Amino acid sequence: MAFSYVVRRVSCLWLLALGVFGSAIVALGEDMPLKAPQPKLVLDRKYVSPPRFEAPLADDLRDVVPKNIILIIGDGMGSGAQKLTSLYQYKAEGRLVMEQLPVTGFFTTYSASSNVTDSAAASTAIACGRKTANGMIGLVGRTNTLVSFTALAQKGGRAVGLITSDPITGATPAGFYAQVAQRTAYQEIAGFAGACGYELLIGSAKAKEFFLPKGAGGLRTDTRDVLKEMTERGYAMVETVATFANVPQDKRVLGFLDNPTLEPETALGTLMETALARLEKKDKGFFLMMECAMTDSGGHKNNAEMTVRGTLQVDWAVRKAVDFAQKRGDTLVLVTADHETGGLYCAQSRSVPDRLLIHYTTWKHTGALVPLFAFGPGSKEFLGVIDNTHIAKVFSRFWNLDLSKP
Ligand SMILES: [Zn+2]
Repeated sequence: MAFSYVVRRVSCLWLLALGVFGSAIVALGEDMPLKAPQPKLVLDRKYVSPPRFEAPLADDLRDVVPKNIILIIGDGMGSGAQKLTSLYQYKAEGRLVMEQLPVTGFFTTYSASSNVTDSAAASTAIACGRKTANGMIGLVGRTNTLVSFTALAQKGGRAVGLITSDPITGATPAGFYAQVAQRTAYQEIAGFAGACGYELLIGSAKAKEFFLPKGAGGLRTDTRDVLKEMTERGYAMVETVATFANVPQDKRVLGFLDNPTLEPETALGTLMETALARLEKKDKGFFLMMECAMTDSGGHKNNAEMTVRGTLQVDWAVRKAVDFAQKRGDTLVLVTADHETGGLYCAQSRSVPDRLLIHYTTWKHTGALVPLFAFGPGSKEFLGVIDNTHIAKVFSRFWNLDLSKP
């Protein structure tokens, strides 16, 4: 029998009580308003979990630099989302594939402007190793341009792939290639995408309009046809996973996939497999970032169905990535989130064991630590509680890249 869940109506009262005692807590309340009670909802769908590893995954303590790095980001995927998904799918905690990875730690996620980051400041920290203000991508202040480790890796001959179920102009992928003061400057961000030279730039179809001028059916207010520019420079444009799989190896790939977030929980796993089959052929190694956007949407919408399905999309991607890394022995897999969304509380009911009590405490992001999981050479660098700027610093040290030189 499927679990059902009810929403707690009173668990935020203590926060209200605390709020009257201190201005700091009142200020927090302004940023993260307490929510109205939710209607009773039922989670009654069946989802497909990736197969768990039967034997424990071996820790890799060698002092070896990874040739390839796969970074999987569940946007907004905090420990509450993982707990809910594990309890719903397995009726037990800690059962996800990502939770089987041998190295575990936590990231602090605060930005330069707030204890609660947004995806723009978070991806800038992850890609460039520097804190910036919420809303900004690849910049500190309006003029201090940062460089991402991926831009440097690409210059050095490594292949870089960015795949997301969001538009490729979204804040998380954009942190790896753009410098803009506003995360919503999509036209400008598309221009940066056109110039970055990365091997794979794949997201949902919505971004396409920012690559095309108005005369060609797009939304650009200038006359640039970024899609045409990219096609002339050797990109193949794809709109389905099947056509992505068939792109000749000498082409780079620009993907506008038809609403990948609506696809089943296996969607990102399939994309991961397809991407790795291409990137594996790159002699100098590769970096691949894959982002799941549904986990963030589930938190913002307080939609447990999206939280579970998004977390499973991440878990499928993790399984395929670790399968690849196990086979090769030279690939680091890192799984984390850019921040937590929804302030998700989840527990099994004591009176009705099949019932899950679920309560999202906010519609927004929170400043909670986010879990990280790692496997493969270099994974030991990610033990313990570390900051999100640590990723770019460690990856650039691995590959001798100088982040101080834009
Ligand atoms: Zn969000």
